[in-house]
Amino acid sequence: MARNTEFATVEGWKQSGVVTKKVWHINPGACPICIPLDGKTVSLTKEYSPNLPSGSTLETKVSAPPAHPNCGCFVLPITITKQQQMINMKKKEDELEKVIQENKDKTDKNIKEIKENAKNVIEKEVGNLRDINKN
Ligand SMILES: [Zn+2]
Repeated sequence: MARNTEFATVEGWKQSGVVTKKVWHINPGACPICIPLDGKTVSLTKEYSPNLPSGSTLETKVSAPPAHPNCGCFVLPITITKQQQMINMKKKEDELEKVIQENKDKTDKNIKEIKENAKNVIEKEVGNLRDINKN
């Protein structure tokens, strides 16, 4: 249950687009498995390696606590600054603008092609009619 909750939390951070890293925090009384992870900051997509005793059947890599049954650890997010958020938003806006412009260019090109094709067809038909009238 706790695993699912923490995992869902990390997934939510990924989707938020404003969280870049996560920090592992232990509670008082943490065990040797988790103590080395205290304060450890990793990229949101990276996994932690709990300090498992040899022969342990627990997961060797976890994206968030718990690292073991009754683990009281938790993770906290590190978010990007407001300024970085603004820069990212501007970047997205520019990308969107580019896509719109590209689509517009494509549409303009298509319209031009359709017009040229129509012109060719008409000219050909007119030519055919002339030929018919000549005979
Ligand atoms: Zn723990």
